[in-house]
Amino acid sequence: MLGILVPQVNASAVNHYIAKHHIKHVTITTKIWGGFPHYKYRHGKGKPEGVVVHETGNPHSDIFGEIAYMKKNYRNAFVHSFVDDDHIINIANTNYLAWGVGYPGNARFVQFEQVEMHTKKNFAQEVENAAYYVAYLLKEYKLKPNDACYDGKGTVWSHAAAAKYLGGSDHTDPVGYYKNRGKKYFHQAYTMKQFYHLVLTNYENL
Ligand SMILES: [Zn+2]
Repeated sequence: MLGILVPQVNASAVNHYIAKHHIKHVTITTKIWGGFPHYKYRHGKGKPEGVVVHETGNPHSDIFGEIAYMKKNYRNAFVHSFVDDDHIINIANTNYLAWGVGYPGNARFVQFEQVEMHTKKNFAQEVENAAYYVAYLLKEYKLKPNDACYDGKGTVWSHAAAAKYLGGSDHTDPVGYYKNRGKKYFHQAYTMKQFYHLVLTNYENL
């Protein structure tokens, strides 16, 4: 294994592209639907302990289709918000818990879904929106940024990390989606660690 062809571990091609092209997050749209149930987090109303990042796993849907589907099927599962390249849409009050990762994570975290993107630019824009939204929520709820994905402790979670360290489901999103789109468009897998760095960049700019 020669070192010359190995990219620097900490350099993220996706994050670099976002910075180089001055890709900026969109503003949050609030469209709260009255049908979602209101249950308190384990520490109380308005007391989430972190954020869980999801990805829908559906290659054929758009954000409005996903939101409509979730309203119809909220009894099985729902999240607080949806993100794509052009939107951050908050549909459920983040002061109350959502049903996206099972027990015990549901009683701890704000949760949002990313819709699958199909171009390089759209993926980069979506990731920037998602990182900004995590940073915004951390600030909003006075939570310190802390990557939970490698040790199961902290405020920034993937669904995969919640499943691995807390249980409640066997899902692995958005790890595979990030890896796939990173490799496809940037010749380098995108990782939760790299995403966490983008969250920090956004957090510092708030
Ligand atoms: Zn998930």
